[in-house]
Amino acid sequence: MSKVYCGLVVVLLGLMAPSALSEAATLAELQEALLDEIRLDTRETRGYTGRAKLHKSVMRAMAAVPRHEFVDRYGLDSAYANRPLPIGHGQTISQPFIVALMTDLLDPEADHVVLEIGTGSGYQAAVLSQLVNHVYTIEIIPELATKAASLLTAKGYDNVSVKAGDGYFGWPEAGPFDGIIVTAVGPDIPPALVQQLKVGGKMVLPVGTPRAAQNLTVVTKLENGGYTAEEVLPVAFVPLTGDH
Ligand code: SAM
Repeated sequence: MSKVYCGLVVVLLGLMAPSALSEAATLAELQEALLDEIRLDTRETRGYTGRAKLHKSVMRAMAAVPRHEFVDRYGLDSAYANRPLPIGHGQTISQPFIVALMTDLLDPEADHVVLEIGTGSGYQAAVLSQLVNHVYTIEIIPELATKAASLLTAKGYDNVSVKAGDGYFGWPEAGPFDGIIVTAVGPDIPPALVQQLKVGGKMVLPVGTPRAAQNLTVVTKLENGGYTAEEVLPVAFVPLTGDH
């Protein structure tokens, strides 16, 4: 994977002016360093997640989406640091390792239709868009939904649909979904989201209390309409808000 990535950069470098050239080299180095950090975090959390490596396709998707385009108020060093960053309105873009892990836990496939709750900057949706047929994503803060929708369209992520609203109730007209990712924490597993998940489909979400104990949880929908829930990793997410 890293060889393919370097090869592309070499082709681009040949076409660029000297200042653009060093910027591109820096960007490639920062991206590669971030992928290394994700690999390291994956190994270090193996005891929790049972995964020593993430799927190549997921790492490719992480490499393909330029995080700095989703955090335009920061410089490249911050954009490619393996940590969450504020995106305004009291919200954050998640830590890249968590984006990669949640994507991996979803087991995305090319024909899948997935739902994300908590669009935020649009970054997680952009990563998912590389791996599945269509991404539906809901954001409760209208200004963030509008900004993410414009950015995703401008950057050509044309298999992503964004809407403003309370994602606790899902997007029934667009479902059922092969997978659902929730990027904000609530105390329960939203029943409407379970309902909108296909049998065998996975939902990856933090469950717990904001600023207290939370666990990244993988829900698998059963044939009888019920589900199993497996706690995977202690995490820290912003709250799932709304009047539900
Ligand atoms: N996935 C985002 C990204 O890639 O930038 C990061 C999401 S941030 C950790 C969580 C987001 O969930 C915030 O933007 C927040 O406004 C949103 N949110 C909180 N409660 C929500 C709800 N009930 N429905 C939809 N979005 C919600």
